[in-house]
Amino acid sequence: MPTVYIKTYGCQMNERDSVQVGAMLAEKGFRLVPNEEDADVLLLNTCSVRDMAEQKAIGKMGMLARLRKTRPNLVLGYLGCMAQSRGAELLSTPVPVDLVVGTQKFHRVAEYVEDLYRKKTEARIDDQCLPIVDVSEENDSQSTIRDHTLKAGQSSAFVSIMQGCNMRCTFCIVPDTRGKERSRTIADIVEEVRQLVSEGVKEVTLLGQIVNLYGRHEFPPIGEKSPFVQLLEAVHSVPGLRRLRFTSPHPIGFRDDLVGAFARLPNLMEHVHLPLQSGSDRLLKQMRRGYTADKYRSLVKKLREARPDIAITTDIIVGYPGETGEDYAATCALVEELRFDNAFIFRYSKRKNTPAAEMENQIPEETKEARNQDLLARVNAIVSEKLRSMVGKEIEILCEGKSRNNPDRLCGRTRTNRIAVFDASEAKAGDIFPLIVEEASGSTLYGKIKAP
Ligand code: SF4
Repeated sequence: MPTVYIKTYGCQMNERDSVQVGAMLAEKGFRLVPNEEDADVLLLNTCSVRDMAEQKAIGKMGMLARLRKTRPNLVLGYLGCMAQSRGAELLSTPVPVDLVVGTQKFHRVAEYVEDLYRKKTEARIDDQCLPIVDVSEENDSQSTIRDHTLKAGQSSAFVSIMQGCNMRCTFCIVPDTRGKERSRTIADIVEEVRQLVSEGVKEVTLLGQIVNLYGRHEFPPIGEKSPFVQLLEAVHSVPGLRRLRFTSPHPIGFRDDLVGAFARLPNLMEHVHLPLQSGSDRLLKQMRRGYTADKYRSLVKKLREARPDIAITTDIIVGYPGETGEDYAATCALVEELRFDNAFIFRYSKRKNTPAAEMENQIPEETKEARNQDLLARVNAIVSEKLRSMVGKEIEILCEGKSRNNPDRLCGRTRTNRIAVFDASEAKAGDIFPLIVEEASGSTLYGKIKAP
């Protein structure tokens, strides 16, 4: 049986796309393996959000190509966002590869791989096996990501509900790599969730680049309810589904119906990842984010009123072109005021064909790095304080299985999406139980299961 290794870079959407590719390859008789050394086919599912992610994938491909010395028939391919934005140029970057497939064609990868593998192994003459590049658009590609290969005991799964983004924030390459917003139907998504639950899944995360604007071009609101809130309600009512999450939303899509959903739907977990990007109104306007610091502040307040124990995490860019000391200070002040439960801080990185990349007032790397470190220290101090305050408290955990760092212990997630590690010979993946927090370290909680 031929073997495949898929390495995924970037966000949960990419992880989900890789699962889809893996499921379709398995249907064609390929076996997924966890090590590149054991694979006949090596695929990199790439990310373009930052330059570093692209460089990592290109470097990795260079390393993988060395395996051809002993296995000349290896099939090498790039998938996903970088494949979409760079296309045929990747056929020789940094080494010759066989396959480049963009973000609307994941469902074609398995047949391309099968074809390439057969030609390579049967013909054994490389020049008879022409490389394949497919980065064209495909109608209804949003409905092609729906297959899963669940591991034994898998309790959580991602469900892709839409593709693309029409927002055109000035720093972001996603509208180019993922195309225009397209959404699946509610019925189709609910059916996928039902199927997952029937196979033992307890928690589902709905995925989209701009997830809370789901369906805005396809489906009408009903009364005050946006298509996304209609979808949340429909998925929430699937019997046996214990936890519902979504990511990543845009602050402009958080209207009162969605805030209200956190008060009404008990299995909608109390965590929102709400990208802020900057605390400066001047920069938010330049970034075309569509909100002000004050609007963002009042949204956080409303969410905390709707669900008092809600965790709010965010993304922040430092060193956006023209960011002054004053702009940066405004970001720091908002971070200190809102006290996020976590924040992912990114140094601005130029992306191809985006307005911000063309701006003249780019910020020196040393300044970006200094702001990055400074903001990280501020965020970490707040996060540590919040975590320490949880010691002694009881929290609900969904057990995910063995801890990655210590296979003798188990790990799980809190309702607020924190990782918790614990000893429990009697617990297994998929169990939901109360845990008493004994210690907090880094961003992880440690505890013991509460005795019944
Ligand atoms: S909303 Fe998000 S995905 Fe869309 S352009 Fe802005 S940052 Fe990129």
